[in-house]
Amino acid sequence: MAKEKTLSDKMEKIVSLCKRRGFVFQGSEIYGGFAGTYDWGPLGVNLHRNVVGEWTKSMNMDHENIAMIDSSIFTAGKVWEASGHVSGFSDPLVICNNCHTKLRADHLLEIIGVVADEKMSELQINKIFDDNRTKLHCPVCGKKDFGKVTAKSLLATSTLGMFEEGDEQVYLRGETAQGIFINYKNILDSGFYSIPFGVAQVGKAFRNEISPRQFLFRKREFEQMEMQYFVSPKDAPVAYEEWKKERMAFYDRLGVDKNKLRWKQHENLVFYAKDAWDIQYEYPFGWNELEGVHYRGDYDLSQHQKFSGVDLSFFDEETKERYIPHVIETSVGVDRMILMLLADAYTEDEMNGEKRIVLRFSPNMAPIKVAVFPLLKNKPQLVEKAREVFVTLKKELGAVVFDDNGNIGKRYRRQDEIGTPYCVTIDFDTLEDGTVTLRDRDTGKQERVEISKLLESLKLN
Ligand code: ATP
Repeated sequence: MAKEKTLSDKMEKIVSLCKRRGFVFQGSEIYGGFAGTYDWGPLGVNLHRNVVGEWTKSMNMDHENIAMIDSSIFTAGKVWEASGHVSGFSDPLVICNNCHTKLRADHLLEIIGVVADEKMSELQINKIFDDNRTKLHCPVCGKKDFGKVTAKSLLATSTLGMFEEGDEQVYLRGETAQGIFINYKNILDSGFYSIPFGVAQVGKAFRNEISPRQFLFRKREFEQMEMQYFVSPKDAPVAYEEWKKERMAFYDRLGVDKNKLRWKQHENLVFYAKDAWDIQYEYPFGWNELEGVHYRGDYDLSQHQKFSGVDLSFFDEETKERYIPHVIETSVGVDRMILMLLADAYTEDEMNGEKRIVLRFSPNMAPIKVAVFPLLKNKPQLVEKAREVFVTLKKELGAVVFDDNGNIGKRYRRQDEIGTPYCVTIDFDTLEDGTVTLRDRDTGKQERVEISKLLESLKLN
């Protein structure tokens, strides 16, 4: 997998484990890689499914008034004009004159403790950059020789459906949220929802990130889980506080270390936002945004009303008031969530005097729930019994594997490394008394359990 200069030791180990065991592969690896893309391997797909499943449950199953949708990746170009992405969705690019590496000016400034961000104008950020030029050096070649800072659009363009000059420019979506705003009225008109209600979706987004880096943290093709909650202006501040509480509590359900999560308020609010907080996680490379929980006022619907000419106001029959609903948004990347889970779970410890790597996933996130082993692979009765247990568990749990390769110790290590909470071994006693050895990943504790009681002995939630 391509090495990044900024990866810490722990990150290097996580990246290497991900490839070795089939969680994540570099996109287009056999052709030397394609920057900013990664492919999920067999275990990655399971982890991904668990993350999306838990998020969907927290939105759709735990609430009566959240609708799920799945909108197109491609939309009319006007959507991105209305949203402000065409004119203002950019990152400050600066190029090293010596080695030609393309860098984010705000990230370079951050290294020396100077605050700048993508919301500043080109003029503002150039002024800050010039004031600090002498202190800034290229992280790749070390030289202090940069060009001017320019605003580089993050929107990726496409030619889908464009056949002649003058056709409207088409974009790949830069976020999933716009698909929700443009369907808000359709959902309201379908008659099942009324204010307040939320719309949630999971889907791919694309951004021309200047320097995709830190593995899954900053990709060019990534996935978002977003929810927009449409609420009256009067009720919005209370709803905002409730959603903030709920989103932080969600990470408890995933078993994430509380000490590595914190709130960070935006210092430089965009002009329309009423308030904006991010949930940050302490990744191996430092505290960084995991999820945004933002109170966006009526900006999004007002803009789409203006650009489309369609009335997006809501008439409240009870209060006889007409208003454009306010929006509370919760937005998190699947990839950043998975990287957090991997970093949080990664542990090196010693068991029975032997060093091991273990992913201490909470069982609901573990990609494989149980591994079933026959003690010896050359004893047909053991193999037959083990396959019987394996098939029964697999029918119930799905994510169960059979492994008869190598000695039991090696098999335990392999399962520890991918975070499997339980291993079940079928031995000669099993043939006599119908019990198996159930081994716990974290404690290494082994107990004898009757096959008929195996399922109820597993704590998987
Ligand atoms: P950053 O400041 O780190 O670039 P952002 O503030 O631009 O992030 P949002 O536009 O708020 O991010 O997107 C919502 C969420 O989508 C983020 O909190 C993050 O989890 C995820 N996300 C955004 N950009 C990327 C990316 N390039 N790769 C992976 N996930 C991303």
